[in-house]
Amino acid sequence: MSTASESYLVGLIGEGITVSLTPPMHEREADLHGLRYLYRPVDLTAISRPAEAVSALLRAGSDLGFNAFNITHPCKQLVMEHLDEVSDDAQRLDAVNTVLIRDGRLIGYNTDFSGFTQGLEYGLPDAAIASVVQVGTGGAGSAVAYALLKKGVQKLTLVDLDAGRAAGRAAALASLFPGQEVEAASAEVLPEALAAADGLVNATPVGMYTHPGLPIDTSLLEQRHWVADVIYRPVETDLIKAATAKGCRVLDGGHMAVGQAVDAFRLITGLEPDPARIRTHFLELVAAGR
Ligand code: NAD
Repeated sequence: MSTASESYLVGLIGEGITVSLTPPMHEREADLHGLRYLYRPVDLTAISRPAEAVSALLRAGSDLGFNAFNITHPCKQLVMEHLDEVSDDAQRLDAVNTVLIRDGRLIGYNTDFSGFTQGLEYGLPDAAIASVVQVGTGGAGSAVAYALLKKGVQKLTLVDLDAGRAAGRAAALASLFPGQEVEAASAEVLPEALAAADGLVNATPVGMYTHPGLPIDTSLLEQRHWVADVIYRPVETDLIKAATAKGCRVLDGGHMAVGQAVDAFRLITGLEPDPARIRTHFLELVAAGR
């Protein structure tokens, strides 16, 4: 357990992450806990280092007294073989986004999936989850699908433009959750799948400022559906707007972004962060164009 007299040195390793909102979220929350807590982005792009440098950077960080690192694209899988220990969930998910350094040992966790779960419980409490359709099965989609199945979704339909990726993901998840149904499907089956589903998750980049548009035909949405997006730039995507207009309950991508930070902060400090306070700060940062 932490005390206010301790100090923390934390980093984020990934490509193009100088603009990440995770460092300010952690630092503000730590300030409010009275901690000395510095969180620095280690942007591989800015320092012209390849993804493979993650292991050397972690070891250097350990030598320099860092307490922890968050790990992001493209290092979440690469990093795994360099760790001394990996949590069961991160192992099953085959991705690590948080590394704690304890007595020189590197211990990996995944707070992307738990962050999505936490966001879902916080933003859509009591949402029905018997059957869910998810579009997008890349990095974020993998964590979301794992979270949904771990939370108890009985039937998960995965749709991706890359049919091979969806099929591979579905097969891997089906073997991890043998009592549940996971299937890959093409976009043509969306009318049928959504008619039988409680909710929809978008884990494609469609709807970002840089990829504007809608990932599905929103005329398929009904008021009884809940709709979650993982995109948070913008927080209110066209999908979230269309779903809201239909009267659906919605969960924006900020919840997952905040959730991963909340869970990582708790792992690093042993203290209980305040998710509502961090979300308010997150929305301020996004509104300020950070
Ligand atoms: P990725 O490239 O790994 O995966 C995206 C997947 O979507 C690919 O498999 C691609 O084939 C598929 N896809 C693209 N367009 C599609 C369409 N129209 N229909 C079906 N499938 C389609 O990307 P990623 O790292 O998983 O990121 C996806 C989004 O998630 C990005 O917008 C990213 O910003 C966001 N994200 C959010 C959080 C968060 O905490 N909220 C975390 C990570 C990523």
